Amino acid sequence: MSKIAIVGAGPAGCSAGYHLARSGHDVTLIDKQAFPRDKVCGDGVSIESIQAISMMGIYPHDIKKLALEYAPIHHFFLGVSNQIGHSEQTNLEAYCIPRVVFDQLLYERAMDAGCHFLTQTVHKNDWHRQGLDDAFDTIIDARGVYAGEVNAIAIRAYWTLKQQDLPESVLNEAQIHFDRSLGVNGYGWIFPVSTQHDLIKLNVGVGVWLDEYQKLNINVIQLFKQFIQNNQTAQQMLSKVVSQQPPKVFPLATAKKGNKVTDGRILKIGDAANLTDPLTGEGIANAVLSGFHVAQAINMSRTADQVAENWQYLYESHFEADLRAGLRIKALRKFSFMNYLLIWLMKQNPRVAQQVSHAVAGVVPYNEVLASLKY
Ligand SMILES: Cc1cc2nc3c(=O)[nH]c(=O)nc-3n(C[C@H](O)[C@H](O)[C@H](O)COP(=O)(O)OP(=O)(O)OC[C@H]3O[C@@H](n4cnc5c(N)ncnc54)[C@H](O)[C@@H]3O)c2cc1C
Repeated sequence: MSKIAIVGAGPAGCSAGYHLARSGHDVTLIDKQAFPRDKVCGDGVSIESIQAISMMGIYPHDIKKLALEYAPIHHFFLGVSNQIGHSEQTNLEAYCIPRVVFDQLLYERAMDAGCHFLTQTVHKNDWHRQGLDDAFDTIIDARGVYAGEVNAIAIRAYWTLKQQDLPESVLNEAQIHFDRSLGVNGYGWIFPVSTQHDLIKLNVGVGVWLDEYQKLNINVIQLFKQFIQNNQTAQQMLSKVVSQQPPKVFPLATAKKGNKVTDGRILKIGDAANLTDPLTGEGIANAVLSGFHVAQAINMSRTADQVAENWQYLYESHFEADLRAGLRIKALRKFSFMNYLLIWLMKQNPRVAQQVSHAVAGVVPYNEVLASLKY
């Protein structure tokens, strides 16, 4: 049994904590914030994320029983600049859950598994000074985006509307809109996150990649306003809003080439290891899965050096191919007609439509989408 410190108790840290405590280690989760705590996010819990949290013993019926707010997602909509769009129904159910609710479920699961919790801010340079390296055999860095390399920025707002003012299809549909004003890879989203007492709460936001954002020469709040102004669906919804929370900005650490998930003997997981999808900005699934795999690396190694080597190895075998394929598709999308072409192909070919929607939801690897587009 080892003494393990996990700094950061988001989805990555709680998943690692859960699996390590269940396998008999003495685990301390350290977070600068007490729980429940919010995290700025689109709140999209993809099909892949649902699969990943089932490894922590959280199943859809637990979400329905325990989550105070959630919306099941049955349709994925992709559209470009009000001109072309396709909505695909999927039989596999995804969810949208406000992070303040979702992260609490994972935190409670980690605590039930036997983790201890400390509220403390730990900066990387303080680890030695605060004695973490003396007190613990292994340190896992799960501090999220600021511990990784920031390469994208996003903003989200919550809008509340009356359900009767919206078409029923919107209640269970995750919408992603590519808009020329957001660069070729940027997008806006409209996600339902809860339906209660005849009201619907929507998470509305935009995400842009820094390389494109810097060229746009406009601040992200203005970009958000511009998206709302340009997008017909967002405009219609805004006209019916009964209350709203002001938008909040937060960065992302999406995948990068030649990624190292260890820093000496420190093991990096989740956003701290740049594991977020480079096309959709979806990071919860890989955060949770990286917690599982890092626990495997610890359980299956004999020395601390082997742990670090094995975590890098497991990262390369389980995550890298898909993230690289995502980066390849992202590079192709520098030609702006690709967004139109993709949605046109989805409209023409039901198989492509299903593959693309399932890839957005994380169940189909990007390599398979690239292969399906060749036929
Ligand atoms: C606007 C936006 C929209 C997004 N939308 C989606 C989406 O719809 N679906 C999706 O799957 N992903 C989405 N993502 C990405 C997703 O939010 C992240 O990938 C995910 O939160 C990563 O989990 P994590 O556990 O690695 O980090 P986090 O969830 O950020 O958790 C890190 C934890 O570390 C703690 N911490 C930080 N610094 C310290 C410190 N110095 N000392 C102690 N504790 C510290 C924090 O308090 C936090 O609790 C979005 C991101 C943004 C910014």
